[in-house]
Amino acid sequence: LRVARTTDAVIHENTTVLGTSQEAGGVRVATSRGEVSAKKLLVCTDAYTDGFDPWLRRRLVPVRSRIIATEPLGESVMDRLMPKKMMHGDTRQLSYYYRPSPDGTRILFGGRDGTTEGDPLAPTTHLRSELGRIFPELAKMGITHSWFGQVAMNRDMVPRMFTVGDTVYATGFCGSGVVWARWLGKKAAFKLLGQTERAQSAFDFDPPPKAVPLYLGKPWFIPLVYSFYERRDKRAMRGKKESPKG
Ligand SMILES: Cc1cc2nc3c(=O)[nH]c(=O)nc-3n(C[C@H](O)[C@H](O)[C@H](O)COP(=O)(O)OP(=O)(O)OC[C@H]3O[C@@H](n4cnc5c(N)ncnc54)[C@H](O)[C@@H]3O)c2cc1C
Repeated sequence: LRVARTTDAVIHENTTVLGTSQEAGGVRVATSRGEVSAKKLLVCTDAYTDGFDPWLRRRLVPVRSRIIATEPLGESVMDRLMPKKMMHGDTRQLSYYYRPSPDGTRILFGGRDGTTEGDPLAPTTHLRSELGRIFPELAKMGITHSWFGQVAMNRDMVPRMFTVGDTVYATGFCGSGVVWARWLGKKAAFKLLGQTERAQSAFDFDPPPKAVPLYLGKPWFIPLVYSFYERRDKRAMRGKKESPKG
């Protein structure tokens, strides 16, 4: 956005896209503030894809990812628990990720949330107890913040760009879009500009992700999938404890 502002690009803030349609020579985009026509369209709505593109929405499942922040922990605790001030992640199916806050005073601890509606307390309580399991001395520490956002999963878990008519999609970042979205977004921009060599990428391929059966935009199956993976993670952890060499 910062770079776009330095060019002739026109930015329409607070404008919802309501629908798009392929026409001869381009795409018509209906928005909450009128219609526009474009020779090419880049769709990068990822997990927040709504009814404007029902076709894409059936291919991306929004999954909540949540982060909690501890209260300030003091320098000596931070130095002991996170001496290298690095990010951490584990290898579970429902993985946890954690890091020092940018100012180095707290631990930010995140993981999948498992809910789809409202803002219930349970996922925060769960993350808090998992934080205490990994760092026992934080078991009774206060939590000052808890928030969530959506990440987009697809059936094969491979982020990619793909093209339908004059529309290019760069999407399905499966919870890792901080890196992917910037890189693939840039590739997609080169593609729109017709700079084929610079647009080249192993992740530019058809077919698009497959539609998820029985899914039209409300991910009713998330709690089931979540408890399935939770059980698998628990079983894997038990296996590791029983066979220290494994
Ligand atoms: C708690 C949390 C922690 C995360 N941690 C990491 C991490 O450590 N590392 C990592 O790589 N990734 C992480 N992610 C994932 C990462 O944030 C996303 O993958 C990334 O933001 C996707 O970028 P994007 O530009 O594709 O889409 P988004 O940033 O999701 O943007 C999509 C945009 O589309 C807009 N939109 C949707 N529909 C419409 C419409 N009809 N009209 C107009 N606009 C519309 C939305 O308003 C939104 O602004 C995390 C996500 C969460 C929620």
